[in-house]
Formats: sequence, structure tokens, C-alpha cells
Amino acid sequence: MIIQLEKSISAESRTKLDVIIQELGYKTAPVKTQFQDYLVATGKADFDIRNIGSLEGIKDIHRVTDDYKLVSKKWKLNPSVVDLGDGVKIGGSELAIMAGPCSIESEEQIETTVQFLVENGIKIMRGGVYKPRSSPYSFRGLGLEGLKIFYKHCKENGIKIITEVMQVSQIEPMLDYIDIFQVGARNSQNFNLLDELGKVDKAVMLKRGISGSIDELLQSAEYVFSNGNEKVILCERGIRTFEKAYRNTLDVNAIPILKEKSHLPVIIDPSHGIGIRKHVGKMAMAGIIAGADGVIIETHETPEIAFSDGQQTLSHIEGGLLFEQLKQVKALAENF
Ligand code: PEP
Ligand code: MN
Repeated sequence: MIIQLEKSISAESRTKLDVIIQELGYKTAPVKTQFQDYLVATGKADFDIRNIGSLEGIKDIHRVTDDYKLVSKKWKLNPSVVDLGDGVKIGGSELAIMAGPCSIESEEQIETTVQFLVENGIKIMRGGVYKPRSSPYSFRGLGLEGLKIFYKHCKENGIKIITEVMQVSQIEPMLDYIDIFQVGARNSQNFNLLDELGKVDKAVMLKRGISGSIDELLQSAEYVFSNGNEKVILCERGIRTFEKAYRNTLDVNAIPILKEKSHLPVIIDPSHGIGIRKHVGKMAMAGIIAGADGVIIETHETPEIAFSDGQQTLSHIEGGLLFEQLKQVKALAENF
């Protein structure tokens, strides 16, 4: 059960509410986000919702029986829009496009990417400075110093930044230089990290775990939301299956299901999803037709020499052509 509280609720009404709910056999958790105050109650007993709804200081009350509650569509039918400021939004009618290299490699690479994005009207740049790599000997990113240079060029050109955070200790130092914290597939159920990301006022994009179910992704999102951060974005990036013909199995099915179950915006990552450059565009289109609010696509001026994920990275020429097509596909998808 989700109880939306009036900001002005008196201490007396709050206590009364807690007592009544506990008498019903429910446990309560207060949640205070950037936007609202809630009381999340978990329990099984059946009761007449009107007994609580009529109490003073309550805005609304909703019965939500899913394990995840605040991210559920059962209480909030309107899709959420994550506002990054300066007119850049994720969710809603405009397709959100995030593009850039897998890894931030050098200042020169940042400059050429920013120029490419500006020329194509793309407002969000991706690029990892902390890279989760299967091998410890692979390139693991330029770290905070790289992020500061990334920020400088993006700021000068009105571009927002999405980049991966791998551990709790990185959150605070990164805070001033990013717009969206990306939680990678390998950290999708790092609950300590999710708890802490719930305490900052920055958007968080949660990737689905390598073998994570849809339900698990939504429960991870609930961690962030219930700690106070409503600016959560979900990302389908493919799961590991028995199929070896491509890098991952991009679960396009997950898009309409996530949109049906949750009010949060959903992004598709076809780069990691299929892992094969020449098929990335088609899979991005499939995701948009399935209802994705946006895409995240790896691009590089010279993919052949990229430090990581070159095999799935589009050249700037390929990227520019694709972005135009994707906007048309989004317009088409709006009719379905
Ligand atoms: C990435 O975005 O480069 C990345 C490492 O993604 P994932 O966590 O989905 O593997
Ligand atoms: Mn990558």
C-alpha cells in the first residue's frame, strides 16, 4: 500500500496513521523524495481502504500488492519524465538519444565526440571513466580526472553526461560532474550502491543484470526510489542465454512489459544487447517500436581503434544517419 501524504500533515495525524496501520498488521516505511512524502505499508490483511483515506493529512492512498511499489504503475498511471534541466528530458513524446564511446579515452576523443553530438542535435553523451572489464588487464578507464575533462567540454556545449558509477565511494566525487549515474549490468543488484544513489538528487539509469529478471530490475529501481530519489530510468541491455551467435540476447519483450508494470522511462541499449555493429541500428528500431523512451548507443570516430567494445560501436557517419532514422521510427511508434 502506498499512502501519499500532504506536506502539511501534523505530527498528531502522522502518529494516528502509524497506529491505525500497525493495528491492521502492516509494517510501515516513510519515504521522502525530491517531490513527495509517502508512507509505504507492507502486509497481507484485507481492510476497507476508506478507513484510512478519510484521515486528515492524506493526499491519496493506493493498494499495490507487487514486491516493488513506488515504481509500480498500479498507483501512478502517468508515465514519469526525468528532467535533466535545460529542456533535456527522458520520457514523454520525444526520443531520448544518448551516444558516445564505450570508454572515455582522451581529451581529443571527447572533443571530436562533442562536436559530432552538437552537429547532430544530440543532448546526452555517454562514456565510461570507470570501466567494469572481464579481464583486469583490459583498459579500466581514466577515472575522475578523465571525468573532469569530459565535464568541461560537455558543459561548454550544453551536453548532459551519463557515465557509470561502480562503487559507493565514487558517488560523492562524481556528483558535480555528471547528470545521470549509470549502474552497470554487473552492479544491478548491488544494493548498497542502490541505497546510496537513492540519497542524491541526480538521475540514475539502472541496467538490467546479466541474468536479471524484470522483477529483479524493478526491485532494484525500488531501492533507489524508496531511498528518496524518484529520478530513475530503466535500461534493457540484453541478458545472457544459451545463444552464442551474438553477445547477449536483447530482450525486446522486456520493453512493453516494463512499460506496463512501471511508470519509469525505459531505454534500450542495442550496442551491448546484440554486440554486432551492423545490427545495432535495427535492434534500436525494434526497441523503439516496442515502446522504448530512448536509446543508448556506442559511437566512436574510429571504432576499429576504440579502447573497448569497438566491434559494436558505430562510426560517427553511421551514428548520424541512424539518429535521423530513429526519430522517424519514434514518430511511427507514437501511432501504435
Ligand atoms: C557500458 O555501458 O559500456 C557497459 C559496461 O554496460 P553494461 O553494464 O550493460 O555491460
Ligand atoms: Mn561498452
